[in-house]
Amino acid sequence: AALRREFPYFAAHDAAARDTGAAQSAYLDAAATSQRPARVLDAERSFLETANAAVHRGTSGAVGAATEAFEGARAAVARFVGAGAPEQIVWAENATDALNLVALGMAEANAALGDGARAAQLGVPGSERFALGPGDEILVTEAEHHANLIPWQRLAARTGAEFRYVPVREDGTWTLDDAREALSGRTRVFAFAHVSNVTGAVSPVAELAELARSVGAVTVLDACQSVPHIPVDLGALGVDFAAFSAHKALGPNGLGVLYGRSEILAALPPARTGGSAITRVTMERAEFMPPPLRFEPGTQPVSQAVGLGAAIAFLEEVGMSRAAAHEHALIERLVEGIAAMPGVRLLGPADPARRVALAAVAVEGLHAHDVGQFLDEQGVLVRVGHHCAQPLHRALGMASSTRASVHLTTTEDEVDRFLDALRGAQRYFGVEAA
Ligand code: PMP
Repeated sequence: AALRREFPYFAAHDAAARDTGAAQSAYLDAAATSQRPARVLDAERSFLETANAAVHRGTSGAVGAATEAFEGARAAVARFVGAGAPEQIVWAENATDALNLVALGMAEANAALGDGARAAQLGVPGSERFALGPGDEILVTEAEHHANLIPWQRLAARTGAEFRYVPVREDGTWTLDDAREALSGRTRVFAFAHVSNVTGAVSPVAELAELARSVGAVTVLDACQSVPHIPVDLGALGVDFAAFSAHKALGPNGLGVLYGRSEILAALPPARTGGSAITRVTMERAEFMPPPLRFEPGTQPVSQAVGLGAAIAFLEEVGMSRAAAHEHALIERLVEGIAAMPGVRLLGPADPARRVALAAVAVEGLHAHDVGQFLDEQGVLVRVGHHCAQPLHRALGMASSTRASVHLTTTEDEVDRFLDALRGAQRYFGVEAA
């Protein structure tokens, strides 16, 4: 409750409910976007009011101070996710953009392969390590969010590499053994999510990274649904690349994070180019800065980075282990409540110990949009639809589902209100199971 009071969004909604006598609203959509504590909003505003300047450009004291704040946020992110150095953290627009930076960078590397003039133009030594072609394989899983699926489909189409995926089982999950079976000596890229945004299933990342490394594949981790909820040490997990969005981790919109292992990031060509990412430019060609600035041409989302720095300070103050324990208890309550409800199918692992952050359901006889609308009328905010994971829903035999997601500010009461509203929807639409 004390934490919740730090969030103007919750304070405003709770006060409105008190004033009108309406039911308090239950915010169970943090997996789509999280609300922000006042100090995140304040940090961004205060930076803009007192310290805004064009970072990395010019020599004024104001630029120096703004650059320090900007780079301080990068260092905070690096510490938070277990990167060995701030240079391993690249700013992007969101997680989708961060994942595209990797796939498009690899596409650039491939376009220059075997063409000396083009490779010289590219000017990124070592980029041939991303060589892909017919006979090579790009591996994803059937459970991926479209953001970690379509960029890889496109890369396969551009390079002639074969696009393959780890199929999901009946409950929408896949295992280490399934991945072992799908990986081969031809796999060059393996992209997968740490936590599924539909099933909540947690992947054994360290084991998967090890497996991929043993066949020489580059790993790309979609960490959107893990970083905001559990302690994540990317260095220890051993992945090559990882991506997440600030807006799901109590931070601002318009900012994503790409993490890369130093050596591999150094070999990745920039997918976008322009001012300030370069060392020397002639009318024929450009030479690029080392990471991370190589990947950050143009004016950057500076105040957003400062806001994310404040969000990380907040999360560190709470403690991610504490946050994870709180959320785990809520997930247990959610999963147990759903399991006790006839006519409601839980997607993903039945064992709450195997999931993080969320639970999605299909209500027999009801379209998810009807469920969502009924829940909305009860003040229960959830996400309905395919959650940008159409193939996974298709594999589960449905077009859409209803997803409740929790965060460190979620209360037991909110979870109970979701469960009650779900029962209410069944009654309202006359689809109560016997
Ligand atoms: N991957 C996963 C697992 C997600 O949940 C999301 C957000 N729905 C994304 C990628 C994309 O994040 P963004 O829209 O912030 O780019």
